[in-house]
Amino acid sequence: MIIKPMVRNNICLNSHPAGCAAVVKRQIEYVKGQIPGAQEGTPRLALVIGCSTGYGLASRITAAFGYGAATVGISLEKPASDTKPGTPGYYNNLCFDREARKAGLISITLDGDAFSDGVRAQAADAIRKAAAEAGLPAKVDLIIYSLASPVRTDPKTGTLYRSVIKPIGKSFSGNTVDMMSGKITVSTAEPASDEEIANTIKVMGGEDWELWMDALAKEDVLAPNARSLAYTYIGPELSWAIYKNGTIGRAKEDLERAARDINKKHGGKIAGAWVSVNKALVTRASAVIPIIPLYVSCLFKVMKEKGNHEGCIEQIVRLCKDRLYSAEALKDPSKTPVDGEGRIRIDDWEMTEDVQKACSEKMALVTEENVFSATDVAGFKQDFMEAHGFDVPGVDYEADVDLSFKE
Ligand code: NAD
Repeated sequence: MIIKPMVRNNICLNSHPAGCAAVVKRQIEYVKGQIPGAQEGTPRLALVIGCSTGYGLASRITAAFGYGAATVGISLEKPASDTKPGTPGYYNNLCFDREARKAGLISITLDGDAFSDGVRAQAADAIRKAAAEAGLPAKVDLIIYSLASPVRTDPKTGTLYRSVIKPIGKSFSGNTVDMMSGKITVSTAEPASDEEIANTIKVMGGEDWELWMDALAKEDVLAPNARSLAYTYIGPELSWAIYKNGTIGRAKEDLERAARDINKKHGGKIAGAWVSVNKALVTRASAVIPIIPLYVSCLFKVMKEKGNHEGCIEQIVRLCKDRLYSAEALKDPSKTPVDGEGRIRIDDWEMTEDVQKACSEKMALVTEENVFSATDVAGFKQDFMEAHGFDVPGVDYEADVDLSFKE
């Protein structure tokens, strides 16, 4: 089948298997050139919850191809049917497992609802299996929690909760850009109800991360030097009404609370749990948050001009090399570089005063006439298309492709 992209309102409805694979391979090659391999204390067996796309995929690639770790990955993706491609994450997982196998790295990928106790039990079994295959103790020493989901079923009550991206207290209006046409429109979100705030915390807050750490401890698969990370975003003040001070920000506050509670509960038995504040990047979810596509387009323009632009893989490599497994943190995890709130910051380059000043100036001046020259909306679009396997340099999009993409 020949697959052409189907994009409507910053949402891409399909994906290209060969393009997804090419992007995974590109990330693998980047990591190999950046991280010289295992050292005393670097991960040997990693669990990545939300492994198939974005920051979770970059984390898994870094653990495996950077440090040589065996990996267990969990995600919820749709396989291909006879007529429709699978989700990008489905192809990314296939490619990751294939490349890992070729490189002699153990990888087990589970497809299922990471919020369920059943998948937690399957993960413990997979950890034991991966450890046995790799000749390692059945203990994970790196746990990445990188889920982004609109819904969560509480495993205890069976109740389904939905998250919303809304402001709190008053409505929010912000410009948003259609990456295909450059058309700028005002997008408005009404304030969330108390119930919507509580539900968003239930889905994107820290409760599930805590359940994961408890389950891994109960199954006795946590290594004494285990490090766990969950990811968050803070961003510039112009987005706070919809992000940091909105429903999602409340959930992220709860994630930080969970990190503190995990450290209290498991602290003596593991090296630690941290929230890492990452840079704004183009993922399937971020493209539909009001103001974010326009902000990210301005941010990319500014950071590319300064020469310090990064994508997911560059961010995670820096997170590992200069923070989590930096020389001082390897000797003593309590020396992991953090901010005053105990968070790892790899949004530091995004948040510098000069980058932020240049972004706000651009945001104030951007119009439909100058959006392609004043901002990097083209770069935003490129990353978005690549996240679905389209427009990837070197891929022959006229070639017939097998949707199952199995060997
Ligand atoms: P993403 O959408 O690319 O990845 C989400 C992952 O979660 C996928 O692997 C998906 O399969 C998995 N998933 C979703 N629901 C699941 C379920 N029920 N069971 C199993 N797996 C499930 O997201 P992302 O942008 O990489 O975000 C990951 C984390 O990083 C989030 O916490 C996000 O807030 C944070 N973050 C993102 C950005 C950004 O700009 N994208 C910036 C900073 C922090």
